[in-house]
Amino acid sequence: MSDVQFIKREGGSGALSNDALMAFQTQLRGRFCLPNEPGYDEARTIWNAMIDRRPGAVVRCHGASDVMLAVSFARDNGLLLSVRGGGHNIAGNAVCEGGLLIDLSPMRSVHVDPKKRTARVEPGATLGEFDKEAQAFGLATPLGINSTTGVAGLALGGGFGWLSRKFGFTVDNLISADVVTADGKLVQASATENPDLFWAIRGGGGNFGVVTSFEFKLHPIGPDVIAGLIVHPFANARELLSGYREVAATASDDLTMWVVLRRAPPLPFLPEEVHGKEILVFAVCYVGEPSKADEALAPLRVLGEPIADVIGVQPYAAWQTAFDPLLTPGAFNYWKSHNFTALSDGLFDTLIDCVGTLPTAECEIFIGQLGGASGRVAADETAFPHRDAKFVMNVHTRWRDPADERASIEWARGLFAATAPHATGGVYVNFMPEDETDRVAQAYGNNYARLAMLKAKYDPANLFRLNQNVRPSSAARQGS
Ligand code: FAD
Repeated sequence: MSDVQFIKREGGSGALSNDALMAFQTQLRGRFCLPNEPGYDEARTIWNAMIDRRPGAVVRCHGASDVMLAVSFARDNGLLLSVRGGGHNIAGNAVCEGGLLIDLSPMRSVHVDPKKRTARVEPGATLGEFDKEAQAFGLATPLGINSTTGVAGLALGGGFGWLSRKFGFTVDNLISADVVTADGKLVQASATENPDLFWAIRGGGGNFGVVTSFEFKLHPIGPDVIAGLIVHPFANARELLSGYREVAATASDDLTMWVVLRRAPPLPFLPEEVHGKEILVFAVCYVGEPSKADEALAPLRVLGEPIADVIGVQPYAAWQTAFDPLLTPGAFNYWKSHNFTALSDGLFDTLIDCVGTLPTAECEIFIGQLGGASGRVAADETAFPHRDAKFVMNVHTRWRDPADERASIEWARGLFAATAPHATGGVYVNFMPEDETDRVAQAYGNNYARLAMLKAKYDPANLFRLNQNVRPSSAARQGS
């Protein structure tokens, strides 16, 4: 191995000697990969094909000891550092250009304690892996709606999906975590151990250290739930959205209903003449008493005249994969997102207009329903602040041909600007694209100042900066 050039954290570049790299490598359990070595491309390739960065080297971690070594190695050598969990973040901060990439994806064990109803999860595990292990015991915790997403990034940013109205955000179900902080030491964070760090990692993203193990609370779910889609022609969108607003306002926590606006993919249960046409979809999951499901779903089912109603009994773990085919890795993606406390008529008008000009067949607008348990936590109880959001819109702009990039991004930005007057101004940190650095303060809301103080305590030199970055508070640093 010859000397290797790295990008430095504070700018510029510098070489690390063969001896230094060899000494580091021999201490690792996992693999140290330089460009073009096996494992390097796998580690740097993430869900969003817009991100094509080449780290100086990758450490494919096999345990907390590797993470401690890698954090210290990056810090001591002044290297730019990035941390990869499941590699699904739209902004692509998991991969640095020219620095050291800490790849956690080889660490993916999930250990369930069915008696205590808890799970210990390593940071490379995907939602699908977690769900499968927990569902073997009829248990689950709120996660997102695509099984390929990483538990780590999702949980550190907040995390919500089909179970959040019943059991809160993913962060509300975190019991403890092992965190390697900027000094390279592993500490525990829980309500009783380093409670300030525990508060910060429940929504503060990767700003405070590298989590090597999460402990989650689990709840009895399924294994069967009542879930599926109701697909409508888009022509009735106005009435359907108004009806949805009424139904959502009184729905119990057992019922979660999301709206998807897009062109119809060629799904086998849709007539061929609908394929490629604009549709409005209600995606539904009911986790209450099965005998009461029909009653719970009736108000939604009476709306309009659907093309298809494919709601039925199915395994929860299968429903958790239902949207995977629409959001496979490898396409180019750009997102824009807003939070809403209420859905206004003006918002509906704008959305309907924008669906008329969808730039590609894979672009879609998701409106996720929150409220219920997710809103019954004080905004300052966890770093995740958006407890007022009853709905989260995510505009998934997606294309395969690079020629579609400009029109797709412009469409998303136009929709975002036009719907902004109806939104809270807050944004979910995990839905922010790379260019939204001006929204970081809105992502952390009123919790930003406390996060900045804790950043100064746990990471004063901002080693963990490739994330939606909280700057260490200078006031705290002067006082320490
Ligand atoms: P990565 O890109 O690996 O990590 C994201 C960032 O988190 C990293 O840059 C790093 O800063 C930090 N990080 C990761 N692991 C660690 C660690 N162990 N310690 C410290 N920092 C770490 N979100 C929802 O809430 N609900 C959904 O339903 C949902 N659906 C999604 C569907 C798709 C197809 C995609 C692509 C994303 C979805 N998301 C959803 C967003 C998701 O929460 C974020 O993309 C999240 O960041 C993914 O985590 P990851 O570990 O896969 O990502």
